[in-house]
Amino acid sequence: MALKYIYIGGYGRSGSTLIDLIFNDNNIFSMGEFLALSTRIRAGDTCTCGLKFDSCKVWKDILFDGSFDLDRYVIKQKWADSLLCFLTGSKENALLEKQILKRISKFSDVVSDSSKTTFYGVNRPFHLLKNNNVDLRFIHLIRNPKDVMLSNYLGDNKKLEKGISKSKCLTIFRTAVNWNLANLFAYMFGVIYPKRYMKLHYENLVKNPQKYLSVISDFIGEPLSLRDNIIINNINHMVDGNRLRHVSNIKISSNLQEKKYLFRIHFWDMLMTKLIYWKLKR
Ligand SMILES: [Zn+2]
Repeated sequence: MALKYIYIGGYGRSGSTLIDLIFNDNNIFSMGEFLALSTRIRAGDTCTCGLKFDSCKVWKDILFDGSFDLDRYVIKQKWADSLLCFLTGSKENALLEKQILKRISKFSDVVSDSSKTTFYGVNRPFHLLKNNNVDLRFIHLIRNPKDVMLSNYLGDNKKLEKGISKSKCLTIFRTAVNWNLANLFAYMFGVIYPKRYMKLHYENLVKNPQKYLSVISDFIGEPLSLRDNIIINNINHMVDGNRLRHVSNIKISSNLQEKKYLFRIHFWDMLMTKLIYWKLKR
């Protein structure tokens, strides 16, 4: 039986970690942002369970049993799924990834990957379908650009985890360009593979979790439930994602958005956001 591979596409900061955690609570192996694997290993970071990848009970068996050429994979992975994949020759990466997926399927029949469709991940859902025998379901997650920009204003996730919240210059432009591109590529996937694609607005999910849980459940063909809209999150083995992945007992509600930081956004930046973003139809 083919591995069921749920891919979350769209731009970062769109709430994909929340979906990862819902899946994790429902016995789906949530890998988080799998695309970041080589970067995390190179940086000596830990799995979300708190252990180094070579000590984590899941990733140890998948990547560190000695018969898998992890060093080669770490070198090849970075560009293989990117917008520049055609320059890098991703054949070797595809072969290595085939081995990884075979090992992953020993842990679970259903996995989720929230690598999205930004610059480094745009080719990933396409190559997964082309090179691997996976039953891919693509969830195009869209979040209100104003909130995405607000989230980017706070700084990147890694810095936030370390308590640094300094924003980068040109945040607005970078976010606007990347948000539009990531969503455009996710749409393209839907045009090419309409039966494998569903669109989901983050705001709808947090406003009415039970309804949209049922919609996602129908789409992926797996039962999903959440008691009292609370994600328990006892333990997970995500490669990367939002800092929310370390939190337990998360109540899903519209208040999850980080409105308390709204005052930090300058008037001109807010105006620019409204002018630049391509308004997606609901
Ligand atoms: Zn782990």
